[in-house]
Amino acid sequence: MDTGMIAAKTELRAGTLPLFIGGRLQFSNKVFPTIEPATGDTLAEVSLASASDVDGAVAAARYAFDQGPWPRMSGGERAAYLMRVADLIEDRQSTLAEFESRDTGLPVRFTAEGHLPRTVAHFRYFAEEATRLVGEVFALDSAYLSLVVREAVGVAAVITPWNAPLSIASMQVAAALACGNTCVLKPSELAPVTSSMLADVMAAADLPEGVFNLIHGPAEPTGRALVEQPGIDIVSFTGGTATGKQILAASARYVRRVLCELGGKSANLILEDADLNSALDGSLLSMYANNGEACHAASRLLVARPIYERFSEMFADRVGNLQLGNPLDPDTEVGPLISEEHQARVLNFVQSGLEDGASLLAGGSEAPDLKGGYYVLPTVFANANNSMRIAREEIFGPVAVIIPFETEDEAVEMANDSDYGLAGYIWTARFDRALELASRLRVGSVSINSPMIRDIRVPFGGFKRSGIGRTGGRFSITHYTELKTICVPVQGYTFPRLGSRES
Ligand code: NDP
Repeated sequence: MDTGMIAAKTELRAGTLPLFIGGRLQFSNKVFPTIEPATGDTLAEVSLASASDVDGAVAAARYAFDQGPWPRMSGGERAAYLMRVADLIEDRQSTLAEFESRDTGLPVRFTAEGHLPRTVAHFRYFAEEATRLVGEVFALDSAYLSLVVREAVGVAAVITPWNAPLSIASMQVAAALACGNTCVLKPSELAPVTSSMLADVMAAADLPEGVFNLIHGPAEPTGRALVEQPGIDIVSFTGGTATGKQILAASARYVRRVLCELGGKSANLILEDADLNSALDGSLLSMYANNGEACHAASRLLVARPIYERFSEMFADRVGNLQLGNPLDPDTEVGPLISEEHQARVLNFVQSGLEDGASLLAGGSEAPDLKGGYYVLPTVFANANNSMRIAREEIFGPVAVIIPFETEDEAVEMANDSDYGLAGYIWTARFDRALELASRLRVGSVSINSPMIRDIRVPFGGFKRSGIGRTGGRFSITHYTELKTICVPVQGYTFPRLGSRES
């Protein structure tokens, strides 16, 4: 494989980003642009995968799984490849962070210090897990053994959103490959650049052909063709709840395993005894990091009545000070949103908040001084209630809503009165109180006196319409492996001899 050629072609200056199928670059006749949210200019042209390209990618992954060395090699051998992938990403970390920020609008302080180190860590962690894949033995009366072994599931379709493309893709791809699966990655059409650079890394790491494949394109035709392909064994989807339903419906036809990491509208409970300064810092970070385009954004602040006015004022003051600007500026705290369409969607939510009677404390419009990009001023509403649209729907932008509560029971009731159940946040001086509240929240993760800390080893995922299944550590291994039970008699075990008169 000519990895030099791949490296040259996937340099953005070279123009069109290729597909990566069966270890080969493939350019399509049809292309689509990926737009830089800070300027509205085209960042790169991208090859559009047709339905037959999708078939080709799945066939390559299928062949690599059914006939190739990948699922048959030892965990240690797969680990060596994945460690190489991690090293290559680390070598290119600053370039990857820069392009992640240019393609998504995420401030480089988050991509360089968060997303890229996590991406490297995902490959290293799951490389180690590849060496630790173990089974179990069950002995029955010492006469019978059942061996329970883990095997790869097969071909994984990994479908990712635009809000943290590389970090999310790496979590799924690294775990899938570590377990011996092969995969086809489809990133969002809105942010495909670093996934192309990942294909470049896979080629440079000399992975066997067809183990990792990349296709580009929108939901229609590319995403839909992928989930409707019968050669896929397992789908790992991260994205919106509405799309998750479509993917589950398409997968039902094949009775296939599906992981769904979906949306959220997470409640952030601030009790009257909380340390207000750390609650303020943590709440701002949990809400506005990643431009508010985070599934676990703490977007519904539920604040105890005695501190409501004071906290709302402090919060709005700091929101007004957030540094909005070019994502490549290291001082930028909030960047432009992913697209013009998304900017309009977020501003429409702001309008609905105003119409519903919430009080706008900060922001609420495009950024008057930043022309050309898809900026929305960091925004906060107070005097809202939990039935307003801004409190019920996932805005996925820098818009927070602050709602007062009178009692803890009311806070828990409001927190749980949501279609979603991804994350929850609690700020209080009393740990026993926090634990009791945590046990009552119907969510997948609770952070106490802290923003969310994502430890790779722990499960992440949602209750209710925030998803099905969990990723992280051995929970990802569970998703990406089948269990097989092998029974064997030992020590002269005898069984009834039907049809025989002899005893
Ligand atoms: P979407 O659901 O719109 O898209 C996600 C991916 O699915 C994209 O690659 C998209 O393609 C593709 N897609 C869309 N429709 C189909 C279909 N019918 N069949 C196959 N593929 C399809 O989500 P967004 O990209 O807008 O991302 C934002 C959402 O992701 C938010 O709801 C957010 O909460 C959620 N998310 C959840 C996380 C979690 O871990 N729980 C983490 C991060 C985000 P394309 O974009 O090219 O059209």
